[in-house]
Parts: sequence; C-alpha cells; structure tokens
Amino acid sequence: MNSSKLVTTCQICKSKNLNSILFLGYLPPVNKFIKVNTKPKQEESYPAELLFCNNCKLVQLSLVVNQKILFPIEYPYTSSTTKILRQNFHNLFLKIQENFKFKSSDLVIDIGSNDGNLLSNFKDNFKVLGVTPESIGKIAIKKGIPTILNYFNLKTANLIIKKYKRAKIITATNVFAHMDNLDEIMKGIKKCLDKNGVFITESHYLIPLLKETQYDTVYHEHLRYYSVTSLKKLFFKHGLQIFDVEKIPTHGGSIRVYCSYKNKFKVKKSVKSFLKNEKKYLNYNFFRKFENNVVLSKLQLLKILSNIKKSNLRIAGISAPSRAATLINYVGIEKKIVECIFEISGSYKIGSYLPGTLIPVVEETKKDLNKYDYLLIFSWHIYKELKHVLRKKGYRGKFIIPLPYPKIVT
Ligand SMILES: [Zn+2]
Repeated sequence: MNSSKLVTTCQICKSKNLNSILFLGYLPPVNKFIKVNTKPKQEESYPAELLFCNNCKLVQLSLVVNQKILFPIEYPYTSSTTKILRQNFHNLFLKIQENFKFKSSDLVIDIGSNDGNLLSNFKDNFKVLGVTPESIGKIAIKKGIPTILNYFNLKTANLIIKKYKRAKIITATNVFAHMDNLDEIMKGIKKCLDKNGVFITESHYLIPLLKETQYDTVYHEHLRYYSVTSLKKLFFKHGLQIFDVEKIPTHGGSIRVYCSYKNKFKVKKSVKSFLKNEKKYLNYNFFRKFENNVVLSKLQLLKILSNIKKSNLRIAGISAPSRAATLINYVGIEKKIVECIFEISGSYKIGSYLPGTLIPVVEETKKDLNKYDYLLIFSWHIYKELKHVLRKKGYRGKFIIPLPYPKIVT
C-alpha cells in the first residue's frame, strides 16, 4: 500500500511558504468503521494540521493520506440519505435551467457522482454521465445513470472524450477538496469541458469554518479548505475564470463556484464581493483568534459534559457524520461520557464503533432515545431541524450543541 505524503509545497501554487495555523492532534480516518466487539488492535492515526499558503492563500492539510485508506471500497456514505443535500442538488438543477441555455442533447458530467443523487435531477433533461470510484456507483447505474466506476483522472478523461462528447456542464460537489493530484484533475476537467461549457464546484467554505469554529470539518478526506481567493488562483493557473459565486447551506456553509474558459460569461459582482470580504479573515490575526476559539470550545464542552456526568445523568450522541469523529477524538470523548450514538435505521454505520473510540453506533428508536437525559448533536449546523424531528419522535430530554460555542438547549 502506498504511504501518505507530507505537504511541503502548496497544492495549488507550489510555494514552499506555508505556515501551520491549527493542530488538532492525530486523528483516525473518519470513515473507518470497526465492527462492535472487535478486540482493539493496532490502528493508524494521522496528524490533523492546517497549513496556510502565504502566496495563494490556500488552507490545506499538512499530510495527504493514501486515498485507499480514506476511501475504502465499502465507503459508508450515500449522499441521498441527507435531505439538505438532496434539496441543494435540485436547486442547482433549477438554477442551471434558469441561467443557461443548454439543450437536451448536451452532456452533464458529475465527478464523484456517488449514488447518482445529483444527476438524477438532470437525467430527464440532459444526457448524463457519472464518475465515481466506490462500489456505490452501482446504485446509480441501477437508477439508469451511466456511471464510470473509477477515479476521475487524465486516463478517465481520455476515455470520456473518446466514448462521449465534451460536456456543457461538469460538476464536482463535495469532492473537489478531497482529490489528490489537483493539477491532473484540472487538466482532465479542461479536456472534458466544452469551450462554451461551465464547470461548477461546491465545497465547504473556509470563511464559516474560521468564523464559526467549525474545526470539526477538518479531517483527512478534506485536503483543501477553499476560499474564492485561492480557487481564483487555481482556475487562473489552468486558463479558467470564475464568473459567479454563491453561498449554499450544505455542511454548515459552502460555496458554489461557476467557472468557464476565459471571457465566455460575464463576470458577476458576486466574485468581487466575495474576494473583498475574504481579506478580513485570511490573515494571521484572525487565524490566532480561530485557534483560540477551537481550544476554548473544547474546554467549554468538557465542562458541560463533566457537570452532567457529576449529576449521574446519561448522554448519547445523535448521528455519526464524518465530522463527529474529529470532534470526539479532538475533545477526548469516550464511551463513559457518551454511551452510544444513534443513527437512523438503514445506516451502514450501525453496529460499528465510532472511529478512534469504543462508542457504538446504534439504531435510533423512541424507547432508546428516552433512556438518555441529554443528546449531543454532532450535525449541529442543522440542530434546529434535528431538534424538531426528535421532539416529534417523542424525545423529552435536553440537547447539547457542541459548536460554534458549546451550550445546552432545552
Ligand atoms: Zn499556494
């Protein structure tokens, strides 16, 4: 198995002028789920450190962990399970219909197409093609979405242009920050993109990460933490141009960025306004404030948990998104504190331990929920929605919201 790679030059601009801005310790791969009752044995963990490039302003991890470790074939994630993501993809489809004059014979390629969640919105109006390495791509094929079950790289790009035509739309949502060999990916995208086409990326946005102490979105799958400032540099390097940016609500604050070959579309005001706003945050004063907030949020959460345990009350977790593993491991939560984590029936994660711990992920039932006085909400960015759902299910206890600043909600 190939080993992991230390980042010594910036992943976008190749500068060596990189400084550390956050270190969360050593974390396990957040999607490595070990079955309950497996005897603990030697497990790998990797440094979770953020570096800032003083040249192009990209924030990136200091280590690129081998993708085969991070994305095993049995990768336990289907995007269709998340309502907010489903809505987001439908909105993207509507927006494309509204703003661009593409024809039904035009091709839409989705990189990292997963179970076909995004393309299922497009398949009745366009020709579609998914590219995804996981066996989960077979679900998309069953839904009638042609899918290449492989990683997107130059080889795949060559295969696509041989077999299909160039795409009017290429999308890469929640994968564009994950893929190693960024330059090769960009070359592949350019190869597959029609001269009048649009490349659309969606990524978790660095600014809310910094402003709202969302350190829990730092894990090894996320190699890069984009701002419009750094993406502009990346696209420029590859002869492309950003012409529109918008905020979208996924993952607690993401950006959707539209780019094309130069001078194909009018550059909207949004681009300038994002770039201007980002200047306030992409500096060391703000990074130090962020780092401080991360530590304080950890201490405050421990204080809340400690007070509850002193009163002999019981705590469980709600849902086990990837970010839960970062939070739990960084804060140092173990099963004496949070006894189990509930996931909704059907989740791949049920019956396994949360990575790095012996906290079991169990199926959520009303009866079991009410055994706990407190529920710690890991998808805290949608806690209002979750609280509503859990109350409807009959949960009577209190909620712990771990971020941006830990608090109890009744
Ligand atoms: Zn750079």
